[in-house]
Amino acid sequence: LAERLESAWKKLRGQDKISESNIQEALREVRRALLEADVNLQVVKEFIAEVETKALGSEVIAGVQPDQQFIKIVHEELVAVMGESNVPLAHAERAPTVVLMAGLQGTGKTTATAKLALHLRKQNRSTLMVATDIYRPAAVDQLVTLGKQINVPVFELGTDTDPVEIARQGIERAKAEGIDTVIIDTAGRLQIDRDMMAELARIKETVEPDDTLLVIDAMTGQEAANLTRTFHEEIGISGAILTKLDGDSRGGAALSVRKISGAPIKFVGVGEKVEALQPFYPDRMASRILGMGDVLTLVEKAAEEVDIADAEKMHEKIMAAQFDFNDFLKQMRLMKSMGSLGGVLKLIPGMNKLTDDQLEKGESQLKLSESIVNSMTKEERQNPDLLAGSPSRRRRIARGSGHSEKEVSKLVTDFSRMRTMMQRMGQGAFGMPGMAGPG
Ligand code: GDP
Ligand code: MG
Repeated sequence: LAERLESAWKKLRGQDKISESNIQEALREVRRALLEADVNLQVVKEFIAEVETKALGSEVIAGVQPDQQFIKIVHEELVAVMGESNVPLAHAERAPTVVLMAGLQGTGKTTATAKLALHLRKQNRSTLMVATDIYRPAAVDQLVTLGKQINVPVFELGTDTDPVEIARQGIERAKAEGIDTVIIDTAGRLQIDRDMMAELARIKETVEPDDTLLVIDAMTGQEAANLTRTFHEEIGISGAILTKLDGDSRGGAALSVRKISGAPIKFVGVGEKVEALQPFYPDRMASRILGMGDVLTLVEKAAEEVDIADAEKMHEKIMAAQFDFNDFLKQMRLMKSMGSLGGVLKLIPGMNKLTDDQLEKGESQLKLSESIVNSMTKEERQNPDLLAGSPSRRRRIARGSGHSEKEVSKLVTDFSRMRTMMQRMGQGAFGMPGMAGPG
């Protein structure tokens, strides 16, 4: 028990440090979560190694296991890597702003072009959409139809003109008409293709875009990393739109894209409709990738509830043998504010192996102890020795709390024994008399 109390106390004071050995399980869990979210294997390895180095040696928050805290750090790092806040679309000082869309066929480029145009219209930015996918006649029609739907003009020259020329003339038109932003929709292939890349590169050279957005399907999975690398090396991207996040993909591509290109995800597509575009929020994506909402909430709660300064004060009191029933009540309230006793005890190393039965017993004993303490006078709480020497006081408390004199005596005895033991340990403890039972 002393050992348990000691480590529990260390934890309460936040003295534990994150070490390689106390986060093994968390490391495995995080690795699994990232891979399940389809983050590229190489990216996973690098990311975890970086976070581990950062986390080693940091102090563990009182009342939290190193494992769980590590996961919290991973979450924060994911947010940091994917960008602290949303990066908006470029807006050139001199109109028109030129946005170039790039990506494989079927990823949602044409849809995203219309979504962006609608997004800009809502900001009172006028837009011209340019159709340069001349390889599929239906592609031009698709953009024209979308343009009518959102009431945004489309520049097109059919399917017989060179895409670079269409793009160039599109920008001329926008300049002539004083349009704020030109979005150039381009052709994609099913796979990376030399001709496609060469054409994109030529368009880019000609139009000198302010933003080159890689449109990438969230379902692409592991491949997202290679796609990003190729597009970034061949044409250079300044941002990305992650589409089809309305599906059940966990969005690991977001991390791969960012780690490999350094370019921020600017928007996410969450449906087929033109309204289904959202700014990218790194913190939401981090939670989605980790799929660990519960753990994070728990860690945040512990960080909130446990006041380290308070714990230090408590420790001093214990050392000076001044730990009294008021402190006991305080501890009780702290535990309650963090949820069930069982839940809290499981956070404490050494205590997490208690069976449900033992926990239940401990919990009901704590309740009993609390109701007895509640029936004590202020004086009695501050000076537990008063009770040891007075059967009449104990009798009064028994009557007041609805428990037997024997139970009251036992609490008083346990409490002073615990106090003596705490002093002897010279370390203090998180433990309470009510918990002595199962241990
Ligand atoms: P492109 O070949 O890159 O131009 O892709 P399209 O814009 O033509 O889109 C291909 C298909 O994906 C179409 O059926 C779109 O409706 C669909 N799509 C595009 N974005 C999304 C999205 O965010 N969510 C869903 N569920 N479908 C999308
Ligand atoms: Mg298209």
